Amino acid sequence: MDIGIVGLGLIGGSLALDLRTMGHQIWGVSRQERTCQLALEGGVVDYASIDLKLLAKVDLVFICTPIAAIAPVVQQLIPHLSPETILTDVGSVKQAVVEQVAPLWSNFVGGHPMSGTADSGIEAAQSNLFAGNPYVLTPVETTPATAVKIVEEIVRSLTNKVYLCCPQEHDQAVAWISHLPVMVSANLIDACMGETDPGVLKLAQLLSSSGFRDTSRVGGGNPELGVMMARYNQEALLRSLTSYRHNLDQLIELLKHQDWQTLDAKLQQTQSQRPEFLC
Ligand code: NAP
Repeated sequence: MDIGIVGLGLIGGSLALDLRTMGHQIWGVSRQERTCQLALEGGVVDYASIDLKLLAKVDLVFICTPIAAIAPVVQQLIPHLSPETILTDVGSVKQAVVEQVAPLWSNFVGGHPMSGTADSGIEAAQSNLFAGNPYVLTPVETTPATAVKIVEEIVRSLTNKVYLCCPQEHDQAVAWISHLPVMVSANLIDACMGETDPGVLKLAQLLSSSGFRDTSRVGGGNPELGVMMARYNQEALLRSLTSYRHNLDQLIELLKHQDWQTLDAKLQQTQSQRPEFLC
C-alpha cells in the first residue's frame, strides 16, 4: 500500500519505520526540510517533502502532527487528495479532533496509539514502538465501514491490542488513566514544594526515595503535554478532577474524625482493586 505520513516526529517516524519494514511505500511530509532529509537518510521513508502535494497518489494518510495542527493540515491536504483516500490521525485526544476533521473529510478514522517515550522529533523515532501496546480507533456514525476496516487492518499489523470506541469514551478513559494522574502528580510536587519550613523541606528532599520518585514521575514531565491534555480534554479532565477532589474531601473527613476503620476498609479495597485494574 502507498501510505502517507504527515509530521515525521516520534510517532510519525516510528509508524513509518514499522510500515516500511512490512513492505509498504512510505511518503513522508514534514514541516522542515532538515527533518525530511534525516528521514530519507535514516531509511525512515521512501520519499519525503515539505509539500503536501507529495501525497496526491497515496491510499492512506496518517496525520501525526501536534494536535493543534491536525485540522489545519487536513484542510491544506484536501485539494491534493482523491475522494477514496483514507485519513487517520494519532492525536492523544479524540473528540476535539474528530469533531473538526470528520466534517471536512468523510473517509476519516480517528486513532490514538497508546505508545510513546519522553523524547520527540525524527531522531526519537524507533522500530516496534507500538507492538504489544493498545491502539484505539474512534469511528463515528458517519465513518464508512470500509475505511474503518482498512485502518484497523493496518493498525493490527503494528499491535494485537486494537480497541474501537466512540471519541467521548476514549477521552474520558484517558482522562482517568493518563491526564488525571499527570495533574495529581504535578499537584503533589507543588504541594510538597509549598512546605513553609525550609528545614523540613530540605529534610523531605534528603529522605525522599522510590515512593516519591514513582508518584511524582508523570507530574515532572513535559509541561506542553500537560497543557495540551487540559486544553483539548477539558470536559473529561474536569469531570475526573472533580470526582478526585470529592474523594480527597472524604479522606480529610475520615482523618479529622479519626475514622481508622473506614480508612482501613478503603485501603483494603484499593489494595485489591489495583491488580484487578492493571491485569
Ligand atoms: P513530535 O515528535 O514533536 O512530532 C511531531 C512532528 O510534526 C514534528 O517533528 C514536526 O516536524 C511535525 N509538524 C509540526 N507541525 C507540522 C505541520 N504543520 N505540518 C507538517 N508537520 C508538522 O510529536 P509526537 O510525540 O510524535 O506527537 C505527534 C502526535 O502524536 C500528537 O498529536 C500527539 O498527541 C500524538 N501522540 C503522542 C504520543 C507521545 O507519547 N509522544 C503518544 C500518542 C500520540 P518538523 O520536525 O518537520 O518540524
